[in-house]
Amino acid sequence: MNSLLLTGGRVIDPANRFDAPADLLIVDGKIAALGKAAAAQAPADVEKMDVSGLVVCPGLIDLHVHLREPGQTAKETIASGTAAAARGGFTSVVCMPNTAPAIDNAGTVALIRERAAKQGVVNVFVTGAITKGIAGEELAPIGGLKRAGVVAITDDGHCVQNNELMRRACEYAKMFDLPVMDHCQDYSLVTDGVMHEGYWSTALGLRGWPSAGEEMIVARNILLAELTGARIHCQHLSAAGSVQLLREAKKRGVPISGEACPHHFTLTDAAIAGSEKFWAEDGKPIFPDAGRQTPDALPSWPAYDTNFKMNPALRSAHDREAILDGLADGTIDILCSDHAPHCDYEKEVEFDYAPFGITGLETGLALSLMQLYHTKRLSLTDLIAKYTVAPARLLRLSKGTLSVGADGDVTVLDPDREWSFDRSATASKSLNNPFYGWTLKGRATAAIVDGKKVWSELNEPVAV
Ligand SMILES: [Zn+2]
Repeated sequence: MNSLLLTGGRVIDPANRFDAPADLLIVDGKIAALGKAAAAQAPADVEKMDVSGLVVCPGLIDLHVHLREPGQTAKETIASGTAAAARGGFTSVVCMPNTAPAIDNAGTVALIRERAAKQGVVNVFVTGAITKGIAGEELAPIGGLKRAGVVAITDDGHCVQNNELMRRACEYAKMFDLPVMDHCQDYSLVTDGVMHEGYWSTALGLRGWPSAGEEMIVARNILLAELTGARIHCQHLSAAGSVQLLREAKKRGVPISGEACPHHFTLTDAAIAGSEKFWAEDGKPIFPDAGRQTPDALPSWPAYDTNFKMNPALRSAHDREAILDGLADGTIDILCSDHAPHCDYEKEVEFDYAPFGITGLETGLALSLMQLYHTKRLSLTDLIAKYTVAPARLLRLSKGTLSVGADGDVTVLDPDREWSFDRSATASKSLNNPFYGWTLKGRATAAIVDGKKVWSELNEPVAV
């Protein structure tokens, strides 16, 4: 029998509204007891882990991760991506289907699930494509994908432009009880933009795309969710108008939900101009309440740094505040990284030619804590809920809780730990992250999957 007893921690389980000092016992990969019963029921040979002063919560789930396998293993593999996940405190990741080939058939789903079972450090849940080859023209075999084990469908990286096709996808998805996740983007408005359209795109001479390019499709998805009854989830929201649309639709009971990524609620398009001195000119200074983190303490970087190029684009300070407000009032249900690794040689080109995206598995929790918990916008319980019970409910996973009998996935974290993200320390194969050298506050100290420690700071201390 395999058992682990975590002692002395503050246990937070948002699904059960539990927040108290307690011991936690995991036996044979399942949560066995919480509180006084934990030590009493522990087998004689139990492995003990002292977590005094730390927070113990259900294993975090990252709903939006690009593992790049199969086909793009120079950027990331299932092994390296899940190792980065564990280091960031995630015990489950949901991988996107824009691999090469795309995950649009049962065979590719089976390949990833087999490889993840052998080489994955944490749980991997697979999403399937909405359309064949993510080409937006013909539906993928949604029933076959469901039977093969996908937890949702999405054409992430792309967006189905044909509304009739999207409607049919929603109808099939509803039949198979799968959520439809969407990268909301109207191509006729986005065109070949490389950043947010506004003051900075003009000042920098870069082609911009307006927030309306996202909001248009969020509105479309609300109408289709109402029409079909399918559950539609809007991925990586970046625009203030999207939050407002979602807020109104949810009030009417439309089955729609949304997620936000730390880069969108931490940075603005001013970052592409290259220096923290611009923050003050673009609304509020970043991290106003996060202790010693002041604009002057932020590192600077060159203008046109491609590590600030993402899709959706970094938007204005107004948009950033709206995303934070949407997270605070519950309009945006889920936090995730959109971990999008790219090789150095791909990113080290002119801004126009670089691919979109940054890595995020190892910085997501810290940035979320800084922007939401340390600024008092969200309680620790409500923040953890957006990484645990909320994604578990959307995908109908038996995860995201510490109820007795649940899977023994646990994250241990220190919300107040100050540390610095070091290029040499990442477990990802790729280095495209804008937050190297920043003083971050809060991080995971251990990740436990099925009752086994898959990563612990004790084995691998991090720079403070
Ligand atoms: Zn996307």
